[in-house]
Amino acid sequence: MDRYLVFGHPVRHSKSPFIHTLFARQTQQELEYGLAEPAVDEFAQALRTFFDQGGKGCNVTVPFKEQAFTLVDCLSPRAKRAGAVNTIKLTDDGVLLGDNTDGAGLVADLKSHGVTLADSRILLLGAGGAARGALAPLLAELPSELVIANRTHTKAQQLAAEFHDLGPVTAQAYEQLAGPFDLVINSTSASLQGELPPLAPALIHTDIAIYDMMYGASDTAFISWAKQHGARQTMDGLGMLVEQAAEAFTVWRGIRPGTKQVLRELKRNLGVI
Ligand code: NDP
Repeated sequence: MDRYLVFGHPVRHSKSPFIHTLFARQTQQELEYGLAEPAVDEFAQALRTFFDQGGKGCNVTVPFKEQAFTLVDCLSPRAKRAGAVNTIKLTDDGVLLGDNTDGAGLVADLKSHGVTLADSRILLLGAGGAARGALAPLLAELPSELVIANRTHTKAQQLAAEFHDLGPVTAQAYEQLAGPFDLVINSTSASLQGELPPLAPALIHTDIAIYDMMYGASDTAFISWAKQHGARQTMDGLGMLVEQAAEAFTVWRGIRPGTKQVLRELKRNLGVI
């Protein structure tokens, strides 16, 4: 049977085996999908061993995405832009292809929630790996403006300069942000510690859409905060997780699984519904 897995550390909490097993059942593909948690300095060896032993493809998550970028034989254009790899496929001619499906997953999820990206003013919080992966797919949707704000402002400036050729992207310090924005995407890891990015409450209004890439069984700190300040449309990153997985599954198997039912099952599994 074709073997796939996700590499991460820690990775025991990963929902990827659950999601891909449902995708395989739905599309009648024969495959198994597991977990691998190599020590941080043993990822390269573990990756080699997995493919030497007949593995067909893998996902890569924290903290290995940047390292995976350097270990594959070739890169998709979107992985090259993202500077990180979250999906690897062993092609028929034995080449390890590195791809990045995170940004496509984000955009697919935003669209499935009915969020309009074209001509909209987007505020992206954070300038880490997730922000980098999101920038090209977001700019491809032709927003009127995309502003990056980050705690370490120089990183936001660096990202804006790097992606400037793809669209109207600028960096602004948190305290200088001027609204109104149509959509705020939180790609910081602040919610992981129950913290908030230093965003002025005045930027939140009733018609704004709020997206937190983090997810959990209850509202993230950022979503709770945004609701308190009047945001009516709030979304967490669970849909992005399922959509980036669907994109990876399509890269591996050449068949696109449906996501709605799988997302429902995942929410049930997490106790959200
Ligand atoms: P990184 O570590 O690469 O970047 C973290 C970012 O968060 C940096 O910009 C950092 O700012 C900022 N940050 C951290 N703490 C705070 C704080 N207290 N206040 C303000 N800013 C803060 O992480 P990733 O980009 O890889 O991941 C970010 C988030 O996205 C994580 O929560 C991750 O779980 C989520 N994610 C979700 C996915 C999904 O499928 N739903 C996929 C990928 C990521 P600074 O530069 O100043 O340090």
